[in-house]
Amino acid sequence: MDKGIVLVTGGSRGIGAAIARLAAARGYGVLINYNSNATAAAAVCASIAAQGGRADMVAGDVSVEADVDAMFAAADRMGTLAGLVNNAGVVDVAARVEDFDLKRLQRMFAINVFGTVLCAGRAVRRMSRRHGGQGGAIVNITSAAAKLGAPGNYVDYAAAKGAIDSFTVGLALEVAGEGIRVNGVRPGIIDTDIHASGGDPQRAARMAADLPMPRAGTAEEVAEAVLWLLSDAASYSTGTVIDVTGGRGIAP
Ligand code: NAP
Repeated sequence: MDKGIVLVTGGSRGIGAAIARLAAARGYGVLINYNSNATAAAAVCASIAAQGGRADMVAGDVSVEADVDAMFAAADRMGTLAGLVNNAGVVDVAARVEDFDLKRLQRMFAINVFGTVLCAGRAVRRMSRRHGGQGGAIVNITSAAAKLGAPGNYVDYAAAKGAIDSFTVGLALEVAGEGIRVNGVRPGIIDTDIHASGGDPQRAARMAADLPMPRAGTAEEVAEAVLWLLSDAASYSTGTVIDVTGGRGIAP
């Protein structure tokens, strides 16, 4: 049975790459979006093809509207869009709020929030029964930071992820009667390159012993929750967010 296409933004590395690989293993055609690392995206495609799966890749910055249109045009060429995973996301170097400037904030919110909303809108146009679509599922990758606030590190990132949490609820309710489910996954400390991007490559290793489990999570553990939310097994779940944090940040 053709399960359709899943578009994974930021699918070239880390959590997105794990989601892309697991989606392909579960029988979806996978379109891997990446920003600049074509080599990494090609490696994910190749690993999927080696397992007998179907994958293609498309460059694009999720915060650039023309790029988002090009990504979805590429998805249309592959088949029927069944799922969107809004995974592309960035942090910045640790800083206090009084040291943030507008340039930092614009990048933070453009990629993490505007990109998510732009991509979701394109997916709704294709999936919604209101527009003649066959339904589908959207999964937004948020963060435990949305609850914890990330003081002294990146309160702007936490606020951007908080916006994604609100957007997940709002969009879920907006399209609940149109065959689209919208949910989120909230990772905790996951061992990926993102910590190096924030200038702290040892962050996951350093924090591991103090986490409730006590270890960092893997991208594959996050991918399992995403794939459940994409699947028909989650057919009555919408507007919800699954914590994949090993217990971090769950206490009120
Ligand atoms: P990562 O290893 O740094 O990978 C980031 C991915 O996003 C890469 O594929 C990158 O593409 C892509 N990307 C970056 N900017 C983009 C843009 N403007 N347009 C399109 N793609 C873009 O990050 P990760 O740790 O896997 O994080 C994935 C998601 O999980 C993010 O939303 C992040 O906020 C969230 N998260 C991560 C953690 C964690 O501890 N790792 C915790 C909570 C939440 P290139 O390869 O081309 O650069």
